[in-house]
Amino acid sequence: METTSKGTREQLLATMRQYWGYEGFRPLQLEAMESVLEDRDSVVVMPTGGGKSLCYQVPALCKPGLAVVASPLISLMKDQVDALTACGIPAACLNSTITAEERRQIAADVRSGAIRILYLAPERLLSERMLEFLSGVEVSFFAIDESHCISEWGHDFRPEYRMMNMLKETFPGVGVHAYTATATERVRDDIAQQLGLINPEMLVGSFDRPNLNYRIVRRGDRFSQIHEVIARHPNESGVVYCIRRADVESIAEQLNSVGVKALPYHAGLSDEERQANQDAFIQERTDVIVATVAFGMGIDKSNVRYVVHAGMPKSLESYQQESGRAGRDGLEAECVMLYSSGDLVTWKRMLGDLPDTAQQAAMHSLDALDHFCIGTECRHRMLVSYFGQELEAEECEACDVCLGTVDLVEDATVLGQKILSCILRTGERFGADHNAKVLCGSRDKRVLELDHDKLSTYGLLQSENLRSVRMWIEQLVGQRFLAKVGEYNVLKVTESGRVLLRGEALPKLTKPDAAERAESPKRA
Ligand code: ADP
Repeated sequence: METTSKGTREQLLATMRQYWGYEGFRPLQLEAMESVLEDRDSVVVMPTGGGKSLCYQVPALCKPGLAVVASPLISLMKDQVDALTACGIPAACLNSTITAEERRQIAADVRSGAIRILYLAPERLLSERMLEFLSGVEVSFFAIDESHCISEWGHDFRPEYRMMNMLKETFPGVGVHAYTATATERVRDDIAQQLGLINPEMLVGSFDRPNLNYRIVRRGDRFSQIHEVIARHPNESGVVYCIRRADVESIAEQLNSVGVKALPYHAGLSDEERQANQDAFIQERTDVIVATVAFGMGIDKSNVRYVVHAGMPKSLESYQQESGRAGRDGLEAECVMLYSSGDLVTWKRMLGDLPDTAQQAAMHSLDALDHFCIGTECRHRMLVSYFGQELEAEECEACDVCLGTVDLVEDATVLGQKILSCILRTGERFGADHNAKVLCGSRDKRVLELDHDKLSTYGLLQSENLRSVRMWIEQLVGQRFLAKVGEYNVLKVTESGRVLLRGEALPKLTKPDAAERAESPKRA
């Protein structure tokens, strides 16, 4: 940043070199550190592996007083404190695993200034006792890690983060800095608002991870598909994500039975077992971790060469974060998702229990993920555009779409023409569902009432099922041959659509998977 005084930069760099041995800043790190030194408030969004922790750890050592870090997971705090202590930095955490004696010692060390960075769970930080204690010491600033948990619009809302605005009220003039790996603009603004930040600096890093190769494959024989990826990476580290614990157990077992060193990780295991399995993975005594989403927050293992999603994640944010655990060293890594529309139904059912706003937000990001999966646009481009950014390169050369390995329908021009004609015949007044029904020749009441069974396009795709036709419509929207208009997402044929109708364009439409073809064609 131009305004950075040379002295500040040198001081930060010298501290980073002295304790961590690093020679330069990662993108946005300097700006983020500087905003801490200037006592501003900030929201820092950097992809996983971008180096968020250093953004507050380095200035904590350059500023007098105690840096207080709110972090949601006990295991995460412990890892961070261990890593800091190993670098010779006096840090501690206060959580339920600490004895009363240790607590007293930490409190004394904080008061004497012997401890410079203190990690706390958010609910502990906001307790009356803790706020009172902190009021009696010199707090240099607050850092809120995994801060998307504050927002109901985020994908991992945690109610214990809710009262965080108390920090600004209780400690006026002390900087509050929020860090997260995933946040859309709406979530970013909400974080700032929920924390009561004053004119915060918004620092948003690039979301593209060019070294990750994304591939989305229709799920068939799940185990062989997973094994195929693992077999490409003998003796390398990888993560297999599953939705259910039972799948974690059975896949881990199957992998071991074919000679792959794999361990399970999910919330149903004891703390000791989880910790032991995680340690085995980090210390490379096992190659593969088969896990639910419980695994990974804050795990700093840079040489993960592949991440396989055996089931769909619950949102595009989760996908970005979970797949982002691959290739943190910047070297090539592979991210494969086994997609099945059944997972969408599973997630919708699971998310149904959430309160209203959270549910709406969750459904929105789940739909975004579904579009991402069935889409036939560059995966890198779709991911970054979800986070409000653009990809500079025309083709990423690191996804199945750009590399041309997606299984496409051969006569997509004709198929596209059929779909677009139907949308014109129904008067461009209906959405995807209705048009799909007309194309599939459904006996749906509304189709019959509107006499749409009399149209020439009725039943034009009767050998296909509704889900496939809806998928193609979404793909045509994604490629701008169709546009969704208004509150009801009415479909309109665009200028490019007219070119397609003349047979002068070739859309990319994917073949439906075997499971979908087996579905009864006319099922609504
Ligand atoms: P995040 O929390 O954003 O996922 P971390 O803070 O865990 O990322 O950093 C990821 C890895 O990169 C860590 O091993 C960290 O020590 C390393 N790292 C961070 N900043 C730098 C830097 N400026 N130079 C070299 N390595 C760095």
